[in-house]
Amino acid sequence: MTGRARIAIIGAGISGLRLAQLLSSKADVTVFEKSRGTGGRMSTRRADVFQFDHGAQYFTARGDDFQRFLAAHIEQGTVAMWCPRLACFGGQPPQWTAPRYVGVPGMNALCKAMAGDVEVRHETRVLELERKDGRWHIGTADGEGFGPFDWVFSSAPAEQSAALLPACFSGSFALGQARMLGCYSLMLGFDAAPDLAWDAAAVLNSPLAWLAVNSTKPGRSAGFSVLCQSSNDWAEAHLEADADHVRSTLAQVVREVTGLDVDAAQYVSLHKWRFAKVDRPTQRPFLLDADNKLGAFGDWCGAGRVEAGFDSATELARALII
Ligand SMILES: Cc1cc2nc3c(=O)[nH]c(=O)nc-3n(C[C@H](O)[C@H](O)[C@H](O)COP(=O)(O)OP(=O)(O)OC[C@H]3O[C@@H](n4cnc5c(N)ncnc54)[C@H](O)[C@@H]3O)c2cc1C
Repeated sequence: MTGRARIAIIGAGISGLRLAQLLSSKADVTVFEKSRGTGGRMSTRRADVFQFDHGAQYFTARGDDFQRFLAAHIEQGTVAMWCPRLACFGGQPPQWTAPRYVGVPGMNALCKAMAGDVEVRHETRVLELERKDGRWHIGTADGEGFGPFDWVFSSAPAEQSAALLPACFSGSFALGQARMLGCYSLMLGFDAAPDLAWDAAAVLNSPLAWLAVNSTKPGRSAGFSVLCQSSNDWAEAHLEADADHVRSTLAQVVREVTGLDVDAAQYVSLHKWRFAKVDRPTQRPFLLDADNKLGAFGDWCGAGRVEAGFDSATELARALII
């Protein structure tokens, strides 16, 4: 091959952007992202004065790589620690022994900073890959074509990567073994701040699993914003349910569990995550097919957390010979 390799990465979450950062010095990298924004499941919804991290709530840094990486972002102010007053409905409050971090001013701030000089094509849903003369061409949902690329890597959730990558991909079987679970996020914005004794709470044995007063995170807008997440099991059982039914059911549970006057909320919105949390990971740090020049990676290769996505991308980049 002459000149720099051309690489396509699917997904502008932390995994895709980490890989893009690591490969950009030796290849021409384009990231394709189906959404309008950057960050994937590390996402932030803004509505008037309200603001919600409606995907990842916080992240931990257990390994040296991620700790070193975060240190620079903490220094720059795009990441900070969050120390909420913790509660637990139906059990003992969890004890947080390790620091919990969040993006500042929203969860997506870290990925936005990582996107920096990376070429990201937003609102571009990759639909298919086709190989011509040994190189990959990308077809999008809008009928556009991009390429040729020497390598294509998908950081989309496992089920979505499985649908995208061609049958020749040697990681197809492992990809098919991974399983992810859904989750609903109910967002409530209040003009008048209710008096609560907690900033975040686990909820046990309930359709709800987690509550957070988003506005207690550092650098958030002032509007009192409460994020309520369903349990994964409840979401799985209600994935095809009518959105109004899901919204009103979860609102009723919030009312019963916390005593919060949900009817006083000025802003109410529901988001369905079809693939939120890893139930069955691949247990391999990444899937690489060097013969076909294809790869798949992401949090579903490991523990299903922000750091797992970061680690999967880091290990893939280390293993790659371009
Ligand atoms: C509700 C919820 C709560 C969570 N809570 C926590 C938590 O508290 N702590 C924690 O550490 N983790 C948490 N997580 C998990 C965490 O968000 C993920 O581990 C992490 O963000 C995964 O990053 P990723 O880059 O691997 O995947 P993603 O962020 O999913 O990125 C994949 C990207 O690919 C894009 N994409 C998919 N298909 C296509 C296509 N065909 N074409 C173009 N683009 C495509 C998607 O739009 C997405 O942006 C939570 C997740 C959810 C949903």
